[in-house]
Amino acid sequence: MASAPLEVAGIAVSPDHYIDGRRMPSHRQFELFSPIDQRLLGHVAEGEPEHVDAAIAAAQRAFPAWAALTAAERLPMLERFADEIGKRADAFCTLESNDAGVLLSRMRHGVVPRAMLNIRWFAKHALGLQERPIDTEQALHRVRHDPAGVVVIITPWNAPLMLSTWKLGPALAAGNTCVLKPPEWAPLTCSLLADAAHAAGLPPGVFNVVQGTGATTGAQLVADPRIARVSFTGSVPTAKLIAQAAGANLVPCSLELGGKSPFIVLEDADIEAAAATGALMYRNAGQVCLAGTRFLVHERVAEAYVAAMRAVVERLTVGDPRDEATEVGPIIHPRQVQRVLGYVQRAVDGGAKLLWGGGPHPYGAQYVQPTMLTGLKQSDEIVQNEVFGPVLTLQTFASDDEAVALANGTDYGLGGVCYGETAHAAAVAERVRTGFIWINSFGIRDLEAPFGGIKRSGVGREGGDWSFEFFCDVKDVVLPKKPFKPSFSHR
Ligand code: NAD
Repeated sequence: MASAPLEVAGIAVSPDHYIDGRRMPSHRQFELFSPIDQRLLGHVAEGEPEHVDAAIAAAQRAFPAWAALTAAERLPMLERFADEIGKRADAFCTLESNDAGVLLSRMRHGVVPRAMLNIRWFAKHALGLQERPIDTEQALHRVRHDPAGVVVIITPWNAPLMLSTWKLGPALAAGNTCVLKPPEWAPLTCSLLADAAHAAGLPPGVFNVVQGTGATTGAQLVADPRIARVSFTGSVPTAKLIAQAAGANLVPCSLELGGKSPFIVLEDADIEAAAATGALMYRNAGQVCLAGTRFLVHERVAEAYVAAMRAVVERLTVGDPRDEATEVGPIIHPRQVQRVLGYVQRAVDGGAKLLWGGGPHPYGAQYVQPTMLTGLKQSDEIVQNEVFGPVLTLQTFASDDEAVALANGTDYGLGGVCYGETAHAAAVAERVRTGFIWINSFGIRDLEAPFGGIKRSGVGREGGDWSFEFFCDVKDVVLPKKPFKPSFSHR
């Protein structure tokens, strides 16, 4: 029997798994706290081996019929899924701002519309996944993109709704069935997604949610030999474990991981514009993989840049993510607060200078001041490691070559930002080794474009056709043009 729903700020949401079209409770549960004030939001099902098994089995059973549909037949069902997300917009906003600490305004204007688009856009785009003919002298090759099977999707707490739909959209549209393991620190919107899918009439087993912690439930899911793909967004250490477990069964993984991206300000940059964009790196309290967290500023404009950015940062409103005026919300978990402040303390102990911030924010225990450190060496821990909090570093450079060397001088390679005269900035950006880089802008995303990182920031690309390449098995059906003559010497 399904458990009683959790009630969060007047919104009811199931704490159970969603398997084979039904809610399934667990004997074991984990506690869920709000990052806003650490109040207990409730208890959520902890996935046990029987739930993992049931979800994968349900997805396997549902696969042949779902895969046999054409993209045009799946389209109306997935459009209804997007509509049902829209109907629950307020609930999604309330839940994710309460369990993940995401700004309510950002949920309303950014995340929920994007979640709907993630489902709708890929469902439509899948119509173009027709056979691609390759016509040669010898044969007609009918190149097909067939659904791969059961896809396991694992997402992190900093953007659960956005990232889960970013993967579910193309996976389902291509004809796969899915098992989603939400992040244990922010699992509620993924549970509500199951309600939306159910109301949309997705057949049982096509989309399943198994709640639980990573080391137990997540690890069991990715090690299961019945799965065909793992799409993971999260940290580097977890990605290594997942790649090992999936690799044991030769299951392909898409890994979207952390970043330590450069934010380059060239001598010919528009300083005010670069400063206004620079302050955006504190969005979501800096818990954003693609943020440019290492400021590299030309030495001749560094003083002016620091003054301009300080003026913007001083006006930022830190506080409760449910308030419309808030621009910087809480850190997800007390453990993460300690981790972030530990990085700052060690940097300061090592000789770094604070330009602003540097400690807990008076608003509350879960809040950290927007911080900027300088006086750093490239080898310093805080320059090399992802902090995942509102903590940025600033280094100066004297030439483009030096800027590029600093930009490329970490093991990460997710994204980047480059401010400067457009042609100059584009030329520098070309030399920065990352998966993407924004010129005189930040955060422009199109679903058609590839997304992903190089080096420790990830393996593979998602977005547009790249998502379908990952979630599909490519098959070449070869039809000879002339009668085939069997021969042992023929190539
Ligand atoms: P995490 O790696 O700790 O957890 C991510 C997910 O993996 C969670 O659902 C967790 O339960 C699960 N997990 C943990 N151990 C597992 C295991 N052994 N097997 C299977 N699943 C397991 O990451 P996090 O702290 O939740 O998220 C922050 C990280 O995510 C940061 O490094 C950030 O940069 C990264 N991130 C990357 C992107 C991107 O697109 N590149 C986007 C957002 C966040």
